[in-house]
Amino acid sequence: MVNALSNEVPADNDYEVIIVGAGPVGLTLANLLGIHGVRVLVLEKELAVPDMPRAVSLDDESLRIWQQCGLIDAIMPFVAQGAEGDEVFTYRNRSGRAIFCLTQHGRPYGYARGNVFLYHRALEVLNSGIDRFAAVTVRYGWNVQSFLQLPDAVMLVARDRNGSLCELKTAYLVGCDGGRSVIRTGLQIAMLGSAYAESWLIADTRDSTLAGQPPREGVEVWCDARCPTASIPLPDGYRRWEFLLRHGQDPAACLDDACLMRLISQRKPQKDIKVLRRLVHTYKGSVAEHYRRERVFLAGDAAHLSPPFAGQGLATGLRDAANLSWKLTHVLSGKAPSELLDSYEEERRPHQVKMLRLARRMGMMMMPRMRLQEILVSCGLAIAGKFSWLRRWMEIRGENITPVYEGGKQKTKTGHFLIQPPVGNNGLLDDLLGMNYTIITFDRPAQELLNEEDYAEWQRCGTMFLCLRPGGNTSEAYQAFDRWLGGCQGRLLVVRPDRFVHEDRLLTGKKQWSSKRENERCAP
Ligand SMILES: Cc1cc2nc3c(=O)[nH]c(=O)nc-3n(C[C@H](O)[C@H](O)[C@H](O)COP(=O)(O)OP(=O)(O)OC[C@H]3O[C@@H](n4cnc5c(N)ncnc54)[C@H](O)[C@@H]3O)c2cc1C
Repeated sequence: MVNALSNEVPADNDYEVIIVGAGPVGLTLANLLGIHGVRVLVLEKELAVPDMPRAVSLDDESLRIWQQCGLIDAIMPFVAQGAEGDEVFTYRNRSGRAIFCLTQHGRPYGYARGNVFLYHRALEVLNSGIDRFAAVTVRYGWNVQSFLQLPDAVMLVARDRNGSLCELKTAYLVGCDGGRSVIRTGLQIAMLGSAYAESWLIADTRDSTLAGQPPREGVEVWCDARCPTASIPLPDGYRRWEFLLRHGQDPAACLDDACLMRLISQRKPQKDIKVLRRLVHTYKGSVAEHYRRERVFLAGDAAHLSPPFAGQGLATGLRDAANLSWKLTHVLSGKAPSELLDSYEEERRPHQVKMLRLARRMGMMMMPRMRLQEILVSCGLAIAGKFSWLRRWMEIRGENITPVYEGGKQKTKTGHFLIQPPVGNNGLLDDLLGMNYTIITFDRPAQELLNEEDYAEWQRCGTMFLCLRPGGNTSEAYQAFDRWLGGCQGRLLVVRPDRFVHEDRLLTGKKQWSSKRENERCAP
């Protein structure tokens, strides 16, 4: 990295983790680390969140991560979840006729699979969530300039809001500093991929007569090679519009109100709307060659850029935060050796590559550039829409978006994301789980299933034990696990803090050993 470190700048306190960038990924990571009491500093170069269009779609895993942050109740007023059976996605031909619809189906992880949300309000919640933690500080107006890796620390130089250079020291540095990441550049890590040739005209509008109301419609996409368009209704009267600009169209000329209103009314005449934000944006699809070098990590857009067609740009960044937060916590507290951190890139990068492929495929359907492509896509979807089993397969996400780590061992749920069924009165399973490892058993407590030595070791690691019973408060959860596991009797699930199944064991006899991977054991 360019070394701007000098002897003239005094070093600030020691931090365990410094996060560069207070976007949604940086703030989510800071909240997760804050829960564990990690000493964190977040540096953000802007003084306030730029009032520009950003993500509008969010999946169920993302909401579950914000549930883990303890912020779900504060965020939900800015989220619209489709109810079971709601039409959430309609594909229209150029004359506006609906040719393919998807409905909301199932909540395996506790929330609707596809959701829309108000990005700027969610960011405010994430930001104020930090106030709960004495050990976490966010500094706005601090622009990170350079860093230097030492064997046991990272030294960082940032320009503070008065323009002075300050030197800071941290055990680990995480670049959550977006697509133009200075941290990634400093690590000399290349982005592999490319930008799309065309740009999108993106506008956020608001109909104030709908203030306080959830959206009444789902997402609509017009398959029309003359001007592919998407309309995404949001809570509180907001709506996202996206129009693909054709070659030769002057982006600047499209940004004024008159042009935007003309484009909008061609699709869906609207009264009483105001354009609040507008942007011409060229999407990119690329993944960093590496997510880590020694003590420095990349997460979110700093590590990968995705077009929004699969609604996975932000979601994959939040998964990075969830994956990295508990690993850093365990290593910093001495519960695990530093090799555990190697698994961050091993797990996260291949999944992002898969998501990028999916987004590109969906982009081909959503942005036909030629009439022939438009006809083929429209006909294909019109035919697919006639088969209810095919629609249902797509609704339950036949294209498996949720990652499976460790290659997803056959016949077991090892490596799978844990389901999150309801428990008790309006509660969800994670309300019963801690922020550490959890051992879930069925009908018989773990103490009866594990030998004394193993049980004591798990206890010493701070593991939580949860026994689900077929009756009482947890009966619904018990039934859900029974279906998911294909029979839960005798099963023992070791669940990681990020809710992935670390180990799924069928224990046939009494007092059996449940092994753990060496690098995830508690320190002796
Ligand atoms: C128009 C648009 C529409 C989108 N729609 C969707 C969608 O519908 N669904 C979806 O999932 N995703 C969507 N995305 C992508 C999504 O918004 C991003 O993936 C997400 O915001 C990335 O979050 P992040 O925290 O990684 O990065 P960012 O939000 O980019 O945050 C990075 C932060 O780092 C700060 N920073 C940068 N450099 C420095 C520095 N040197 N020092 C200090 N701070 C620094 C920046 O100021 C910024 O605040 C969309 C993106 C755009 C642009």
